[in-house]
Amino acid sequence: MKLYALAFGAHPDDIEMSAGGTLSMLHRNGKPFGMVDFTRGEMGTRGNATIRAGEAKAAAKILGAEVRENLGIGDSNIELNRKNLLKVVTVIRKYQPDIVFAPYREERHPDHVHAHQLVSDAMFYAGLRKLKTGNLAPYRPKHAYFYMQHRTFIPTLYVDISNDFDTKVAAIKAHKSQFFDPKSKDPQTMLSTPEFMDYLLGRMRYHGRLAGVRYAEPFWTQEPLTISDFDSVV
Ligand SMILES: [Zn+2]
Repeated sequence: MKLYALAFGAHPDDIEMSAGGTLSMLHRNGKPFGMVDFTRGEMGTRGNATIRAGEAKAAAKILGAEVRENLGIGDSNIELNRKNLLKVVTVIRKYQPDIVFAPYREERHPDHVHAHQLVSDAMFYAGLRKLKTGNLAPYRPKHAYFYMQHRTFIPTLYVDISNDFDTKVAAIKAHKSQFFDPKSKDPQTMLSTPEFMDYLLGRMRYHGRLAGVRYAEPFWTQEPLTISDFDSVV
């Protein structure tokens, strides 16, 4: 199956929080996308692998993903090794995305840093003809867009998500075990406080202000972006 975009996240709710609006926009515009989680999030304080798999499936449906895969790498154990690299190469070749979304290079959670590095490396290696992954053809995506999580950076691209804000919030809230729930008996985490959702919404609003729109998601690109028509810039 050929997809337009593939979004990678270390844990099952990462993509939703940082690029959910952008993916919803792609879906509305008829651009098929897939989601790939590195881990099942089993080391999270709240929920467990089974609960989180159900929540991830529900969130993917809300955003309009064609597929959501899990690489089955241990949570809090995303190692930079050949085996994990080949897992990412394989999924890139399988779906042949034009563009890829992944975590930014500097992050608080080491899993995010390692996921960044594995996707960056796999973007290149997936194009090597002599690197074999079954009978999948070599393939190199055109661009990678790195999204913002805990640590901030100066964005090189903003995506206007004003029309996709509600869908994004619904997809985040599909991860019921992770976010604020007054009935939950699980221990409180940074994400599960009512203030965390305020912070997420505030950040989308803040970047929207800088982007000149209502809500925006920030991204960073390794290379400058090229346009062939100034009308495409908002
Ligand atoms: Zn994460």
